[in-house]
Formats: sequence, structure tokens, C-alpha cells
Amino acid sequence: MAEDTILESTQRTSGREALRKNVQAAIALAGAVRSTLGPKGLDKLLVDDQGGTLVTNDGVTVLESARVEHPAAKMIISASSTQDRVARDGTTSTVVICAEMLRNAWQLVRQGVHPATIARGYSIAEKFALSSLDELAIEANSEQILSAVETSLAGKLDLAMEKHLANLSFDAGKLIVSDGRADPTRVKVIKQSGGSMLDSTLITGLALAKSRIHPEMKERGGPGSILLLDGGLERKQPKFETKLNITSTGMLDAFRKAESKALLAQIQNIVDIGCDLLVCKEGVDEEARQALSNLGILTYRRVEKKDLDLLSRVCGANLVPDAGRASKGDLGAFIRTREELRGGITHWILDAEDSGATLIARGSTDGVVDEVERCFADGLGVACQLLEEPLLLPGGGATQVALGRRLRRHAESVPGREQMAIEAWADALESIPRALAENAGFDGIDSLLKLTAAHSVEGDFMGLDLETGVPSGTISRGLLEPLKITRQAISGATEASISILRIDDVLWAQMDAQVPDEVQEQLQGFGAE
Ligand code: ADP
Ligand code: MG
Repeated sequence: MAEDTILESTQRTSGREALRKNVQAAIALAGAVRSTLGPKGLDKLLVDDQGGTLVTNDGVTVLESARVEHPAAKMIISASSTQDRVARDGTTSTVVICAEMLRNAWQLVRQGVHPATIARGYSIAEKFALSSLDELAIEANSEQILSAVETSLAGKLDLAMEKHLANLSFDAGKLIVSDGRADPTRVKVIKQSGGSMLDSTLITGLALAKSRIHPEMKERGGPGSILLLDGGLERKQPKFETKLNITSTGMLDAFRKAESKALLAQIQNIVDIGCDLLVCKEGVDEEARQALSNLGILTYRRVEKKDLDLLSRVCGANLVPDAGRASKGDLGAFIRTREELRGGITHWILDAEDSGATLIARGSTDGVVDEVERCFADGLGVACQLLEEPLLLPGGGATQVALGRRLRRHAESVPGREQMAIEAWADALESIPRALAENAGFDGIDSLLKLTAAHSVEGDFMGLDLETGVPSGTISRGLLEPLKITRQAISGATEASISILRIDDVLWAQMDAQVPDEVQEQLQGFGAE
């Protein structure tokens, strides 16, 4: 009875029917992003329910903003988000490959192969492919790293901007790499709309769009000690409405005197502990400003909390709530401080042991600046990966074809029906060169055949030239991509497809299926048996 009640408002799909529906969902999902794959991929215009728009050709952005309810589709979207987080690129490929793996699995199921057998075959294929990838990969030099960053930005912006951002990302990566590690969070981004994207620049050190509290305050070079105040240097305003019962102007004066004495005592403490540079979250009173100026303490005020946290990290300083109680141990160290005019705005730039770099992202509108920020983050992610692990694979479908050829040879040695699954997995990988070719206006199958033939004659590094549709050498063209991206895409797609293959029972909450007409059409002929 209990179960019946629970299931009343749910619908149950089991066995092959569940698999069929899941595969349909995967294909519908891949259909939404497949046309964005590659440098010739089209952009999508996303419109949210407030009418806000975003033009993008980034697979994961498209998927994350679609309100998908289907559990299998959600699993694939989550594989794509993981890809984005781990590798910063390859999100569309992950979805396309995963859907193709499921489509091919479904064909095998229809021929009578059990999903568990397919799952085993897929695991064998994945393992073999991952070890083949290590053999295929080449050690990258600096020029090739830059090319790989450019490849990862291909199709996102116009060519000049892609090159510019690739250079900025690579330079930023080089600035923050230390002991073989490059942490992208050490690059800060300041967004500044107005001007052109090409005006975006990189600054060595931590920059803030701030100028010192008074021009007559002397700039000082460095090195020196910095104090971070999680408050300000302001006199408290007497609260008339409260208990303070003011009966004469004399009393108010006395109050002010006491307050200013307290303020001066705080400043005295700042001097005593040896602070050269003071940064406050809140304001600094005129009286305090003059005192600080006379004492030669360079001061910045109204600095946002997140910037204070950054300063705290890069200088090794504590954030103190009260200047009067700050001690020597709270101070951090900086190497140099300066101010520079960038894009008509004064920027305060601080160099410290660990101050990384700052990008000033420019563009005509806020939307454009956001796009610059997103692309820079992707480029930087790829640059950092390659500075840590400089291993590259050929792009333009070359890696997938090279793996496909090896896998088919390997499959011959595998007895049992797993062999068919390995071949199906290899076919799924080759959906990448097919989609790249189709998006560039060529025939997918012909291009794949040409590419396979080129591999057998000229080797593993032949990839599609999407201007001509003909295979050509990827190294001379600088068409290279990080090993990590492909490795993650392969394992993410395989794991998601295997999990979906293992589902043989789906409980659905009652809801109206909203499958767009074009997807319905695409799915016709994909009937249940
Ligand atoms: P993803 O989200 O999977 O990264 P992209 O739209 O960025 O999708 O496309 C990546 C694919 O495009 C990779 O397979 C890459 O090798 C290929 N690619 C990028 N630039 C070129 C190019 N100039 N010629 C051929 N293929 C390219
Ligand atoms: Mg990409």
C-alpha cells in the first residue's frame, strides 16, 4: 500500500524502454550543442525568462542554462560541468562523444547485446585509449603552448582578439607559475567597460582601480610593511537621539576632543608597529588623513573586502578590526607600490612575494567585458595546465582517428561480444572529426574516411583543415591541444555513458515532457521495438 501511494504520482519505465528513453534524451542534448563544435561552430543565442540574452558557442554554457529535467540528460550535463572545472575546455566534445556512445550502445542492445557486456567493452576501450594517449602525446615547447591556448579559444571571439587573449593568458600563466605549479586564482581580473576588447591589458602584480586618499600623500616605492584594516579611521558620530544628553556646545566639543584623541592614538599605534602602507575597508577622516600624510604613511581607503582578502593572501598580512590593537605580527610585506593610469583610470599596483598578475578586461559593453573575462579564464586554465604538464595531442580530429585505428586493432584480440562494444566506442570517438567537418560545411563521413586514409600513410598527426576539408599536418599548423582535456573528455564521457547504460528502471515524477519539435523530428526512426 505504501509503495502504491508513493508511486501514484510517478510513472515507471523499466528495462529496455528506460534505456531507449535515456538514449533519446542524450541525443537530444547533444543535438543542442553539436553545431557549436569547433572553430566553424555556430553561436547560440540564449534567452532567459527575464528576457536577458547571451550569445555563446560554449557547450557547457548552453547546457547549464537550459532547464533540463531528464535524469540521464542531467548526468551528461554534470559530466560536461566536471570537464569544465577540471580541464577548462572540451565540454562540447564530452557531450557529443557521450551521446554517440549511447546511440551506438542502443544499436548493440537492439542486436541482442546485453548492456552489461557493452559496459565492460566500453571500460576496456577507455583503459586502452587512455594508455594510447600517453604514447601519442608530445612534449610541448613554449611556442606550442601558446598555439594550444589559441586552439582552445578558437571560434569564441574574432581572430585578432583570440590571439590577443591567448597571449595575455599565456603571459599571465608564466607570471604565476612557481615550483612547477600554476594556480589560476592568482590572476585577478578588473572589469572595465568602454574601449575595445583589444585594449585589455595585463599588469604584473596585484592591481586595484584605486588612487591614494590624497594626491599630496607621497607615493613610496618599497619594500615596506603593510597593515590591512577591516574598518576605517573615522571618528564616531555622536548619536544625539541616544543617551548622550547634550546640554551645551562645550559638551559636544569635549566629545569631539575625546574622539579625535582616540583616533590619534590609533594612528600612533600604526606608526609604532612600523606600518608604511595602510589599507582600510572603510573611510578615513580628514583629520586622520592629514596625520597619516605628515607621517608619510601611504593610505588607501574603501577597499572592498574581497580585495582586502587578496592583499592579505599576497602580502601575508592579517586583517585587523581595530587599528589601535594592531601589532607587528599583523603586518605583511610588500616589495613595491606604484600608481599607473590605465584606460583613463588610476590603478594602484602592488608587488609582493606572491602578488601574481591582474588582467584589465576591456570591451565596449558590460556583456563584452564578461565574455572577455570568461574566455581569458578558459585560456588561462589551459595555459596553467600546460605549464604544469606540457603534453600535447594533435587537434582537428587527429587524436580521435589515431585512437580509433588503434582500438580497432586491439578489439580483434578481445574475444566475446565486448569486441563489438570496443568498436562501437571507437566509432563514437570519431563523431568529433565528423561533427567538425559537418559544421564547416563538409561531408562528415567523407572527411572521416579521408582522415583515416591520411593516417595510414602519413601518421597520427594528420588533422582536418576546416578551410579546405582536407587532412593536413597539425604540428606545422600549431593545431594542438592539451592531453589533459582529451583524457578528461574520454573518461568523463565513458563514465557517464556506462552509468546510464546501467540504469534499467526510472521513476518519473509526473510532468509534461517538453521535447521541442525539431528534436522530435530528429528522433523519428529511433523507435522502440
Ligand atoms: P569543446 O567544448 O569540446 O572544446 P570546441 O568548440 O572548442 O569544443 O571545439 C574543439 C574542437 O575543435 C577540438 O576537437 C579541436 O581540435 C577542434 N579545432 C579547433 N580549432 C581547429 C582548427 N583550426 N582546425 C580544425 N579543428 C579545430
Ligand atoms: Mg574548446
